[in-house]
Amino acid sequence: MDNLIFSKIGSDFDGTLVSTYHLFLYYINNKLKTNYQPKDYDSYNFAEKLNGKDFEEEMIKIVTGTEEYLGKYKLYSGAKEFINSLKYPLTIITARKNGNPLLNCQGFLNSHFQGLRIIRENHFDKKNILKKLEIKVFFEDRKEIALDIAKQGITVFLKNQPYNQNVFHKNIIRFNSFNQLKTFLE
Ligand SMILES: [Mg+2]
Repeated sequence: MDNLIFSKIGSDFDGTLVSTYHLFLYYINNKLKTNYQPKDYDSYNFAEKLNGKDFEEEMIKIVTGTEEYLGKYKLYSGAKEFINSLKYPLTIITARKNGNPLLNCQGFLNSHFQGLRIIRENHFDKKNILKKLEIKVFFEDRKEIALDIAKQGITVFLKNQPYNQNVFHKNIIRFNSFNQLKTFLE
């Protein structure tokens, strides 16, 4: 895509670089003795839909903040090779809260990559921090955030997920794998 100037590139963490919602499902199925499959995860707030807000908060805290789950985080296939092949440093912008969940995210990333800049920001403000940092291209998985960012003229590559279907904007490009994303950017 020669028409894009990749002076600065940013990425979300959960659901974009790592398969966070598989861990949410794992937790839900263990806790509720259910057998939901990835294709059933049609809303990012899936747990809230099932069992109330307290459950959602508890789940996020446990899955993103404890050592037991940290060991289960997996980078999406090809993500490491893709990020290491970028000509420009990548800025990770996550809405993870301070404390253990954020430290775990930083620790995970630092164990796989060198030289990443990691910024925590309330996800509703992602568009503002992207504008401030003059980031022109962003990788994201949440559809409402993607749309918000796209409306600012920023190109969003949306990681295809069961919970982010049916969002359309000229600045949103959906991708299935990091190998496919690499071909988009070549
Ligand atoms: Mg995300």
